[in-house]
Amino acid sequence: MILKWLDVLKFINQGNPEPDQRVNKSEQEWKQILTEEQFYITRKKGTERAHSSEMCNLFEPGKYACVCCHTVLFDSEEKFQSSTGWPSFTQPIKVNAIAYHKDVSFGMYRVEVTCNTCDAHLGHVFQDGPPPSGLRYCINAVSLEKIKSEERKAVFGGGCFWCTEALFHQLKGVVKVESGYSGGTTVNPTYREVSSGKTGHAEVIEVTYIPSEISYEDLLSIHLSTHNPTIFNKQGADRGTQYRSIIFYKNEEENSTAIKVIEEIQNLLDEKIVTEIAAYKQFYKAEEYHQNYYNKNPEGGYCQNVIDPKLKNFRELYKNKLKQNI
Ligand SMILES: [Zn+2]
Repeated sequence: MILKWLDVLKFINQGNPEPDQRVNKSEQEWKQILTEEQFYITRKKGTERAHSSEMCNLFEPGKYACVCCHTVLFDSEEKFQSSTGWPSFTQPIKVNAIAYHKDVSFGMYRVEVTCNTCDAHLGHVFQDGPPPSGLRYCINAVSLEKIKSEERKAVFGGGCFWCTEALFHQLKGVVKVESGYSGGTTVNPTYREVSSGKTGHAEVIEVTYIPSEISYEDLLSIHLSTHNPTIFNKQGADRGTQYRSIIFYKNEEENSTAIKVIEEIQNLLDEKIVTEIAAYKQFYKAEEYHQNYYNKNPEGGYCQNVIDPKLKNFRELYKNKLKQNI
């Protein structure tokens, strides 16, 4: 689910979400571990000078944590160029990472954002961010620390996500697989809405992977070899645009990789590949009962009749790419 301005107002009026944990320290204790500037901004609600940090123009993949308690707050995927002079994000990494407070200082009505774990002042959130959230988290760079991460995320769809998710979970270098929706127009879609075929969304998976262990190219060729990419809007008995074969790219390099992999696989097939290649916009995680469906419901009819045979072929085909412990 992505947060919108109405959610922010709800938090202010009805209380902030419960954090995963709390860190409480006295002013004296914070002073000992923070620099003077970090203390002034995070514990005394200071504001750094605009354009004073290189973090504004930093867009390489990674995560941003609270400088005080090191809780991860933002992902570089939600960072955008706002030209305001402060690092800007459209979403926190988790709904409960940030707390929201009414701030009427300086004769303005603003919404202050703090770290929900340790109450560090971070900045403010405004309702003039880019779609689909429309939010702009305007954050002091001094409040954040960048965590370098090798992890990348790839999003693609090839029919029912129960199947595709089950396969990709088993690959070496894959850290996490989540089922969800992408490629359509409805914000925060439900499974029922996507099933109607009217949202434009496809059932997809978001694969978090380590490129030095498995490449984007590998992921795409495995994807194209484990579903039928030559049929429009259909996989097995599932029919509808939500089951279309689709690959999302996040930059030009991924776009050319997708074109190249499709050409390579095309050489092996008689029928024409109809997989759509689309610019990535947003991934909406599906409802909890869809996550890890195969492992949670191994006795289910769909799992035994549809996923099991696919998985067997898959494990045979990609023997040398599987995790050891599965
Ligand atoms: Zn914190």
